[in-house]
This record gives sequence, structure tokens and C-alpha cells, in this order.
Amino acid sequence: MDIKIHRGTHQIGGSVTEYEHHGWHLFVDYGEELPGGPKTGDLQVECLTHGDLSKSALLITHYHGDHIGSIVKLPKELPIYMGKVGRDIQRVLSNHLKTKIEAHQLMLERLEYVYTFREGKVFKFGPFSIMPVTVDHSAFDAYAFKIVADGVSVFHTGDFRLHGFRSGKTPDMLQEYVGEVDYVVCEGTNVSRPEAASKEEYRLQKDFEKLFKENKGCVVYLSSTNIDRLFSLYQAAQKAHRAFYVDEYQKEVMDTVVNSGSIWTKSKLYQYGKHEPKSLIYDKYDKNSFFVSDSFKNALSEYGYVLIARANPRFDKLIEQIPGEKKRVLSMWNGYVKEGSNAYNENLAKSLDEDFDYMHTSGHVDMSDLREFFRLLHPKGIIPIHTEKPEAFARVFCDEWPIIVLNDGVNHDITCLGSKYI
Ligand SMILES: [Zn+2]
Ligand SMILES: [Zn+2]
Repeated sequence: MDIKIHRGTHQIGGSVTEYEHHGWHLFVDYGEELPGGPKTGDLQVECLTHGDLSKSALLITHYHGDHIGSIVKLPKELPIYMGKVGRDIQRVLSNHLKTKIEAHQLMLERLEYVYTFREGKVFKFGPFSIMPVTVDHSAFDAYAFKIVADGVSVFHTGDFRLHGFRSGKTPDMLQEYVGEVDYVVCEGTNVSRPEAASKEEYRLQKDFEKLFKENKGCVVYLSSTNIDRLFSLYQAAQKAHRAFYVDEYQKEVMDTVVNSGSIWTKSKLYQYGKHEPKSLIYDKYDKNSFFVSDSFKNALSEYGYVLIARANPRFDKLIEQIPGEKKRVLSMWNGYVKEGSNAYNENLAKSLDEDFDYMHTSGHVDMSDLREFFRLLHPKGIIPIHTEKPEAFARVFCDEWPIIVLNDGVNHDITCLGSKYI
């Protein structure tokens, strides 16, 4: 089996990996590069973007734009596989954005032709056998894949972490569905902070519960598809006896998860309690505003609230109209509001104002957790991707594991990679 990382050996975002055996091509992810970073542009790949596609397929690990965003540019006849709930959440997101961003209209059309797989159910493509394994990430319904062909097994992690609500199940799932593998193709986003340990998601939830109890009005800015955080905030608001407000789009995202029938939805985290999240109503005379009645304002000031907001004029206007003190919280990566950062978002910085609390934890695995993870899989070699510093990744782990640093666009017979150990 050959492996070629078309993009991602030295950058985060836009990773594209190809596994090839006997003329069959299995690709993993075809997303966009992150805004602000160095760009290689639209990636042209034989047997994926053009050429003979009769023995090609694409697996999508999860719905983040840097993994799925460019599938709209792929030929219709290319089979694409992803998780069902992930596809459904992407549909809600694209439907919401389709009038503002044309690519989302195209995404909606493309999603009609996407095949879905089930976690823990092996499926075949040519000589490849593929086992989707559900992983914890800041996108819901994210997957790693165990890919076997030619007597060689690879565990392709996609983006994941081990400090989330669902991470405790990972060792059991690896034992049941994966076992030991020959190679791990592993995300290394957090390698630049090798000593750091991210706060566990449940501890962050405790902090939110305390904040909501101590502050009557809280406005939280987070990514609308960070499902675990969203439900965590909802449950924290329930415990603090605060009403939980979202807009119609955000409610649709939550409903999609609650009604998805995913194995995870057996957990109370993803179930509505006594009080469902309340949907903000749009003003029927002014689509750019929410309808704000006196009784709505009174209810907010009397009982307190948690409002899930996004940085746009509609929310800005609403927040201005709500009486009383408000605690503003940023619950996503703070690079978005650091001036000079590649990902700086001026609207978000303005909406947050100067005075806000930062309450967040990473969607990506820490290096100390990775060490434990590798011991479960016991590979012959580890190939870092989705990282800016694969050499630093090698320095962290080379005392225990052979780390294979590749370059973009170079083909290798995976079983002959032993000579490239660092
Ligand atoms: Zn990513
Ligand atoms: Zn991701």
C-alpha cells in the first residue's frame, strides 16, 4: 500500500491524504486551507480532482471546513463517504449560509450525493477495508479510520482529543474496533505546546455553571457547530436555573443532534431537560433584528439568562436592548480576537468589547495524552499531519516511537518507510 500526503505534512488545515493499492485510490479529506495562513491554493490531484475516477473514493473525517470545504469542487461521479449526523449538521449550516455564500448552495447540492457510513461497521472499497471509529472533537460525529489493504493496517486519526466528554470511551473503543496497527497517521495541531494539558471539557462546564449562578445575564460567543460545548452550556444553564436562548438556526443544529439517533445521544448531555432551549424570534418587519417585547425584557431581567450569540449586527442590537449587567464570554480560540493574528475577526472583537471572560479548551489532543494513545495502538511508525511542526512532533515522541516525517506530494510504499525514521 502506498501513501501520499498531498497537503498537511507541514501545515494545519486543508490536509489531503491518499492511500493507493493495485490502482485503487482512497483519499481522506479535501478541505480548505485556513484563512490567513500560507496558501498552496486549489489542489489538483490525479484520480481525485480529474482523470480516471472509476477506482477512487473520498472519506471525510468531519465537517470542519478545513476537512470538507472543498468537496464542492470535486467531480460529481467521485464517491464521497461521511458520517450521517455530520452530514446532517453540515446541511443545516449550509442551508443557513447559502444566500450569503454561494459555495454553501453548492455544498447542499453535493451533500445529496454523499454516502454515509456507520461507526464500528466495516465497509469495503476495492482492496481497502475501512472501519470508521467515532472520536471526540469540537465537531460532532467526527471519525478516525482504520484502513487495511495489502496486509498493512493504518489508523488515520483525523482531528480528535482525549479531554472531552466522550474521550473516556476511547481506550475501550480502540480495543474493540481497532487493536494494534502498523502505522498511525496522526494529527499534531498542539505540538507547539508540548507540555500543556488542556482543561477537561467537564471542568470547563463546572466553571460555566458557577459563572451562570453568579451572573444573571451571560452572553457567550462560540462556534455554532461546536456541539459538545453548546450542549455543555445548555446543561450548565439548566443547573444554574437560567433560561437558555439561541436563535432559530442554532436551535435547528441542536434539534438535529437530539433527534439524530446517534449512539452518543443516549447520554443525558445531548437530551433536553425540563426546559428546552428557547428560540429567539426574528422581527417580522425587520429581518435584521430580533423581536424584543417588554415582557421578554422583563423575563430576562427577572430570571436571568444565558444567550448564545454570534458576532453580527442582529445580535449586537439585541444585546444593547437587554437591560442590566451582562457578562460577555468568549468560548472559542482567542486567536480570533488578537489583533495581528492571521485569523483576526474584527466583528467578533467589536461585539465582545474590551471586557470579557475567556473560557475555552482545545478541540485537539495534547501531547501527553497522545503518548498514552500511541501505547494502545503500538504502531511500527507514526506519520504526523495537520501540524506546522512535524519535526517538533518527532522530537517529542522519538524516544519511544519511530516518527516518520514526510513531505507534501511525495509517494511512498508505506512498508518501506522504516528507513525514514527520525
Ligand atoms: Zn482540522
Ligand atoms: Zn476539526
